[in-house]
Amino acid sequence: MKNVCILGVTGSIGTQTLEIIRKEKDNFSLLAVSANTTYEKTIEIICEFKPRYAAITDKNNYEKIKEFCKLKDFKIEILYGMDGLITIASLPMVDIVVTSLVGMVGLRPTLSAICAGKDIALANKETLVVGGQLVMSEAKKHNVKILPVDSEHGAIFQCLQGNDMNDIDKILLTASGGPFRGRKKEELTNVTSKEALNHPKWNMGRKISIDSATLMNKGLEVIEAHWLFNMEYDNINVIVHPQSYIHSMVEYRDGSVIAQLACTDMKLPIQYALNYPLRNKNIIDKLDFFSIGNLTFEKPDYETFICLKLAYKAGEIGGLMPTILNAANEIAVDLFLKDRIKFLSIGDIVEETMDKFNVNTKDVTLESILEMDSQVRKYVNNKYNLL
Ligand code: MG
Repeated sequence: MKNVCILGVTGSIGTQTLEIIRKEKDNFSLLAVSANTTYEKTIEIICEFKPRYAAITDKNNYEKIKEFCKLKDFKIEILYGMDGLITIASLPMVDIVVTSLVGMVGLRPTLSAICAGKDIALANKETLVVGGQLVMSEAKKHNVKILPVDSEHGAIFQCLQGNDMNDIDKILLTASGGPFRGRKKEELTNVTSKEALNHPKWNMGRKISIDSATLMNKGLEVIEAHWLFNMEYDNINVIVHPQSYIHSMVEYRDGSVIAQLACTDMKLPIQYALNYPLRNKNIIDKLDFFSIGNLTFEKPDYETFICLKLAYKAGEIGGLMPTILNAANEIAVDLFLKDRIKFLSIGDIVEETMDKFNVNTKDVTLESILEMDSQVRKYVNNKYNLL
């Protein structure tokens, strides 16, 4: 029996993790959860799963949930804020932490979980984008497994099993291309957030859906793959594969390419990460090859979707540049979702901010990341949040 802590339990990955815990009751017990502003859903989860701890990052919601649990006489400790996240992620009884927070807020609790020796099922890619060097070296030091929950990285992780890392030539990261695949810049000038949120293959949270429309999501995944699999950027290639049955591939030096295929359902990479190294009975539908039709592959359009190009650039520069890229993107996406800026401005803002903060520091510490992140957020908000 593994005791699970889910950071970000009400989101898309969080609720899908709950489905697995519900179906695999003998394997997993939900010990701790975190939530932000969602009240009803958090209460439902607490009533059903009876976790011993909950960390709530929104003050108002924290008071309300605490009051509710007191009235019901639940045996649960309700904690508040970032300190609450850090506490539940490193509880002695926790075996594995599912990090499905949105954005770089996941970095500190993930690091504290690693230092406390917890295995990580990592769905929060921004953590590795900004703190990859730090996270991977701490994981090594504390002998902790970082189990990828991103579908592409989960696929690569599966393709690597039983092979020698030294035999890998390339990681082939597949991308669906998002809702605007095939369109040129001039056709994207006036697209709305509603159109951008309408992903053709995956049903995901709002931030990641916009990132998928700009291809920033793929860019962040390139940086994530660099850190997870210790691979040079030149050897991580993005391939647009609109049908999204192949979740990624690994090319070995003898010319063999190993791919992982499955239906597009995030429950599979979550289930694999939770049960690793074991496999359990399928929770998702199995593939029906006779109904798939053709699988096609295209080169990404780096000129239209400049975010992908910028992410490679930030990754190659290294240091704090991925933090700058990520912070600018988080604010720009937020402004786009509030209809304050146009879709194409997201990439332009990220590019301008990367030029502006052209720092060349290799000194990546938790403090320097947090400091740069807050500087960039302030800068982008002041400059572009004009309404
Ligand atoms: Mg992904």
